[in-house]
Amino acid sequence: MKYVLVTGGVVSGLGKGVTASSIGVILKACGLRVTSIKIDPYLNTDAGTMSPFEHGEVFVLDDGGEVDLDLGNYERFLDIKLTRDNNITNGKIYQAVIDKERRGDYLGKTVQVVPHVTDAIQDWIERVAQVPVDGKSGPADVCVIELGGTIGDIESMPFIEALGQFSYRVGAGNFCLVHVSLVPVLNVVGEQKTKPTQHSVRGLRGLGLTPDILACRSTSALEDNVKQKLAQFCHVPSESIVTLYDVPNIWHIPLLLRDQKAHEAILRVLNLHGVAKEPDLREWTARAELCDALHEPVRIAMVGKYTGLSDAYLSVLKALLHASVALQKKLVVDWVPATDLEDETAQENPDAYKAAWKLLKCADGILVPGGFGDRGVQGKILAAKFARENRIPYLGICLGMQIAVIEFARSVLNMQDANSTEFDTHTKNPCVIFMPEGSKTHMGGTMRLGSRRTYFHVNDCKSAKLYGNKSYVDERHRHRYEVNPDMVARFEDAGLSFTGKDETGQRMEIIELPNHPYYVGVQFHPEFKSRPGKPSPVFTGLIAAACGQLEGVLQQNHRVSNGFGKPNGVGNGIAKISVYQNGHATKFAKMTTTNGNGIYSNGMQF
Ligand code: GLN
Repeated sequence: MKYVLVTGGVVSGLGKGVTASSIGVILKACGLRVTSIKIDPYLNTDAGTMSPFEHGEVFVLDDGGEVDLDLGNYERFLDIKLTRDNNITNGKIYQAVIDKERRGDYLGKTVQVVPHVTDAIQDWIERVAQVPVDGKSGPADVCVIELGGTIGDIESMPFIEALGQFSYRVGAGNFCLVHVSLVPVLNVVGEQKTKPTQHSVRGLRGLGLTPDILACRSTSALEDNVKQKLAQFCHVPSESIVTLYDVPNIWHIPLLLRDQKAHEAILRVLNLHGVAKEPDLREWTARAELCDALHEPVRIAMVGKYTGLSDAYLSVLKALLHASVALQKKLVVDWVPATDLEDETAQENPDAYKAAWKLLKCADGILVPGGFGDRGVQGKILAAKFARENRIPYLGICLGMQIAVIEFARSVLNMQDANSTEFDTHTKNPCVIFMPEGSKTHMGGTMRLGSRRTYFHVNDCKSAKLYGNKSYVDERHRHRYEVNPDMVARFEDAGLSFTGKDETGQRMEIIELPNHPYYVGVQFHPEFKSRPGKPSPVFTGLIAAACGQLEGVLQQNHRVSNGFGKPNGVGNGIAKISVYQNGHATKFAKMTTTNGNGIYSNGMQF
């Protein structure tokens, strides 16, 4: 096993995650099998308890692991399926060490950061790197490890020490360190400044780690003399210094790395030159270029708990993008803060109210994503009602599906106080109820998490057709509440169709309004399995319906599932090549624009 460690210096937010994923992409393009590990030096055991509005979305894996969103980057870029152990945190490591201590495994010794914590880190990395994540058997060839945070952070010290030791443990030729740094350009003189990088490399060396490759984030390509200077002061050969300069969209990053021969530098350090082939990035290039060229917009209103951090909905945005690119449309996301749609806002802030409704009314499609807590619920209900009554394509994810059911109960079944018991414990019409898989009394461990199976109960429905008329699908979940099974018959009589259910028939997984152009709600989170080039079917449905192409897509899917045509999962006139999209787009989008990611939005950077 060979290891590529990616560290970051100078400032956070340089796009280390995208760089690490892109390194994985070029190595994979060289014919190598790649896995990845993300280290988050915080004390939380996992990301499950962290606020998405502070830290970005909680990404959910097949095994139910609630992990850092960077694992989503890896899954999408490399088309792999990771496990919860691929995300290491200080919390997990300390817990493992303390559990061991309690069991008496340290035989009376004083338990210390060095060697006990550092050994635990190294053992963890070595163990997890062996786990195949690409559906093939046997371990991968290379494991890309991303160390979160910036060199010098107190919390990452045990990891730095452990990784320094680890480079000796695995030996020369098996370990390559890529340091991502910043080369700022001072506006006044327009000069590329190397000092911050020099300092951060010095810091790295002081901690026992030697960089093999420097990846410098800058607005434009590094000038030759700047490279020379960096090479001289940082002791890294200039052919091992690459610039990650601003590009129209972040899918160009693997191409940038390839063009600057980063793969050759990495393969040289890892002694893999004879084994790897020239990188084949033709599909990747075609996608990146196609995305740059898209111009016909499709406007999607995202009605959520908007607080300014679009990373909170990262996978949903990526899934929308994958579907839009597949349908050759330029995605425009309009953020509609759910609370702004509510009557109260009309009184308190009429301008915000008007602006929100204007965006909703201009939308080609409406999406209500998942969420917890009751803030903005009324606004989301109003958005679902608007979509239902005005025949606007609607996709509700998790909470977005529960909202649609509540709205239907209130408006169509005349149950004025219909609600989820999450928001009103005493409602007389509890159409969404607490249905945990675990304990009913404890918050921790009561979520329905990870991959679960949904069986289609109605064949002639849009969702079944979009999924290629399979009898079941496996999608990822993260919720506690579900549609009340006792009320399903009443909903069905009134025209709401429950097209997908779990194996017991008790858990409602997919709803649809058959007489609406596209009104679909899913209890699961399809966004986590969407891939560039393999968009999630229900997202494809939303975008296709939003631009009047749903019939074509459904017909194409029908032909494919009957053995005709090529199974690309999308319909007539649809791009054969979709664009790969991933990562924290802000980090690589032009720093001066809001739209470098191929997604245009109302003033939000992502
Ligand atoms: N709050 C809802 C529940 O727990 C929805 C969760 C979600 O949207 N992920 O069921």
